[in-house]
Amino acid sequence: MATLGIPQNTIAILQKYDFVFQKRYGQNFLIDTHVLEKIIREAGITKEDMVLEIGPGIGTMTQYLCERARKVIAVEIDRNLIPILRDDTLAEYDNVKIINDDILKVDMNRLVQEENGGNPVKVVANLPYYITTPIIMELFESHVPIESVTVMVQKEVADRMQVGSGTKDYGALSLAVQYYAKPEIVAMVPPNCFMPRPKVASAVIRLTRYQETPVQVSDEKMMFGIIRAAFNQRRKTLQNSIHHAPDLTFTKEQVAEALRGMGCQEMIRGEALSLQEFAELTNRLIALEKG
Ligand code: SAM
Repeated sequence: MATLGIPQNTIAILQKYDFVFQKRYGQNFLIDTHVLEKIIREAGITKEDMVLEIGPGIGTMTQYLCERARKVIAVEIDRNLIPILRDDTLAEYDNVKIINDDILKVDMNRLVQEENGGNPVKVVANLPYYITTPIIMELFESHVPIESVTVMVQKEVADRMQVGSGTKDYGALSLAVQYYAKPEIVAMVPPNCFMPRPKVASAVIRLTRYQETPVQVSDEKMMFGIIRAAFNQRRKTLQNSIHHAPDLTFTKEQVAEALRGMGCQEMIRGEALSLQEFAELTNRLIALEKG
């Protein structure tokens, strides 16, 4: 089977199947062998690994993964791509399972349980950009057993995952990622490495899951509720945004008291707080509520 990382081979497959790109599925296929090699290398794939690939497209990266990994599970939403993968580009591999489904509807915990006995998997993908954040949040917040996530995303989103407090890109995604994993941007990828070309620059980011989270919080869900409230209304003070959040029950006075206890100004905004401080605020609010 000819490698699909070369544009002529990708074009030949697309023509053979009269494939029409679906914009709504964020289809930008990789056509650069150096980038493909780089992703596989940075993901550190070995013959021990089971890899979950989200959105295999015509199977370009999947071929590389099948060569290196023990087993690959590839979940693709577009049913027009399934015959290409099954009958053509991945036909020669017996270590791949192709699932035609929406990744956000798949019970990933169950999938990893069934396919890998619940042992951690490596996630590798050139993600559809329209759902990057929900996919990453779902992977971490549902505690899917994961060793690492190495993914192509918009450069701007990769930046958001990496930054700390006090910058404009800092938000709920930064905090969620940094609570669960160590983020490292490992490659910058220009639009001409894709077909069709996206409008924006892309980056490959590797998120290595922590064995133990870097901060201790007594109620993780509560902390993320507070974080979401803080960034939903970014320009408001923390007191106001937490008090007005429909799913939180803390009073303004409780928030003010917790902030005072931390040595923070009462009028502080959420964007000024680090992960450590959000954890401390959560622990203090829970203690205050218990009385
Ligand atoms: N991996 C291929 C490559 O690098 O050439 C394709 C990457 S393309 C950016 C994203 C892929 O994700 C497309 O094949 C698209 O159909 C698929 N996709 C989009 N939304 C999806 C979803 N909700 N669940 C599973 N796959 C999805």
